[in-house]
Amino acid sequence: MNLVFLGPPGAGKGTQAAVVSQTLKIPHISTGDMFRKAMREGTPTGLKAKAYIDNGQLVPDSVTIEMVAERLAEADCANGYLLDGFPRNLDQAKALEGISKLTAVVDIAVADEKLIARLSGRRVCPKCGGTYHITKLADEKVCPDCGGELIQRDDDNPATIANRLSVYHAQTSPLTEYYAGKGILKQVDGALQMEEVTSQILNALAE
Ligand code: ADP
Ligand code: ZN
Repeated sequence: MNLVFLGPPGAGKGTQAAVVSQTLKIPHISTGDMFRKAMREGTPTGLKAKAYIDNGQLVPDSVTIEMVAERLAEADCANGYLLDGFPRNLDQAKALEGISKLTAVVDIAVADEKLIARLSGRRVCPKCGGTYHITKLADEKVCPDCGGELIQRDDDNPATIANRLSVYHAQTSPLTEYYAGKGILKQVDGALQMEEVTSQILNALAE
């Protein structure tokens, strides 16, 4: 299955994509994770992406599309993949069509008020890659899974969150119409409990 997960920042795409990709045994390809790794390693892609990411803007398509095209050409994608965070605008969607044929697009919908609360309380573990919310942590600084030190992502500050949401509404949300028109859109309610969202997704994909 060639899948795309759509949804606003904070919808839980990354969390759901991790679970669903394991269940379906296909690689989870997160462009946000790829950019963060590139920035940590100081690669040319990371250096180009940093200012955009820090501002909550999209990294230019020329950079992003090439990065994704190279990743999809790797052997582990031959039997399917789950894209998380790509495409994020219509030009990226059209570029993807030129590379690969999608099986389904899952849209995880959540209202803005809820997203702001989720993103501003989000903590991540650089050691194991886990994502948590302060309301569910015994200690805001300690990873419940590996004991690593939790941090807040640089782009989870109020100004950058606001920009990411407006970029989402202007550029990414039109993709739901686009994929609905192609008959491959599956919509799920991202405001539900995590496990319920997962089962909605798996049910929708089994249809
Ligand atoms: P979120 O969905 O929570 O905003 P991501 O980890 O998916 O976070 O992305 C973080 C940032 O990486 C985005 O705000 C954007 O700057 C950049 N980025 C990720 N995917 C893309 C993409 N497909 N096109 C352009 N920029 C991207
Ligand atoms: Zn951890």
